[in-house]
Amino acid sequence: MSSTPSAHLQTLRLEANEDSIAYAAAQLRAGEIVALPTETVYGLAGNARDAAAVARIFAAKGRPSFDPLIVHLASESGETFTSPSRQLEAQGWIDAAALSEEAQAIVDRLVRAFWPGPLTLVLPRAPAVLEAVPGAVPTVALRMPSHPIMQRVLQQSGCALAAPSANRFAQISPTRAEHVMAELQGRIPLVLDAGPCAIGLESTIVQVDAEGGLALLRPGKIGASLLASFGRLRRASEGAVHESTRPLAPGMLSRHYAPQTLTRLFETPLSLAQSLRELGASLQSARAGEGIGLLLLQAPDAELRALLNTWPAHYCRWLSEGGDAEEAAHRLYASLRELDGLALSALWVQCPTQEEGLWGAIRDRLRRAAAAPAD
Ligand code: AMP
Ligand code: MG
Repeated sequence: MSSTPSAHLQTLRLEANEDSIAYAAAQLRAGEIVALPTETVYGLAGNARDAAAVARIFAAKGRPSFDPLIVHLASESGETFTSPSRQLEAQGWIDAAALSEEAQAIVDRLVRAFWPGPLTLVLPRAPAVLEAVPGAVPTVALRMPSHPIMQRVLQQSGCALAAPSANRFAQISPTRAEHVMAELQGRIPLVLDAGPCAIGLESTIVQVDAEGGLALLRPGKIGASLLASFGRLRRASEGAVHESTRPLAPGMLSRHYAPQTLTRLFETPLSLAQSLRELGASLQSARAGEGIGLLLLQAPDAELRALLNTWPAHYCRWLSEGGDAEEAAHRLYASLRELDGLALSALWVQCPTQEEGLWGAIRDRLRRAAAAPAD
């Protein structure tokens, strides 16, 4: 598989409308790749049944080829999925025989409850699925997105679309067309612009095993407690994340910074206040806050505001005025990206303490962002 993307001197950014949707669909049918809006984040789409198109996605992203892609499906026009696992088998995506009857019933219930929407199901794959899409794994990841533009492109192209997030490997996921341009300008021919993504966090990923057990592979808007009502749910290992709960220390200012801003997490305004006091004590107060971006979950209270009064206002942001999880998720990546673009020496980011629900999903992403750049 080639690791060099085909050169596109200029990436077209077109507002999503009849003409641009038809053009995007034609490009996809011809084996090209196109960045498209979904309700979660912008995806870089290619025909999932075309090995060359899938190879182009990996090359444009610089993504290691062992990391499998999610396949996005058109919603049945008008008619509902009556027996989803059977239909996914008939369409050549899954091997339903590898699932017990109970497991099939669970898949059917999950699909009826959450598709189209931000739930990706990892299921035993059919032999017909391209090796290139699921990598070396015996499963395939499937999702039916609800975004109307994505759905129209899916329907007009007639292709199922493999579509990872439309960012360079290891960068922040794009939630606006301009983020896609910043990441992939010159590496892809086209992005359809439909404004900001409503949810702003990637889909929840759940694997259904042969006996109908559920494994939460990636938390998202559809939370664990809701999923647990569909079957036995276990949370897959969070993987190695660095311990990021130790207090922030002024010593970090002497670090040698990587090009992408060093990110440290803190969990409570109290631990932030303590770090600010330590910082204030060790630096001349005029320099406190210099070069450090601060991202809070909600607007600071009066006490924190007093501590932050020397902080340059545009270095300090919050995800939601009143601590609303949906608003915070919607703004998370754009806020991180804006702070990252200020060429600061560090970002201090407040991490939610909740493991559950949308706050839990935000926590998951932030812990990965601070441990190592996430794909
Ligand atoms: P992205 O495409 O950037 O939204 O990331 C897709 C995520 O889905 C990655 O973390 C993949 O590793 C994961 N994924 C895709 N296919 C599978 C699969 N068959 N089994 C497990 N995880 C998968
Ligand atoms: Mg990604």
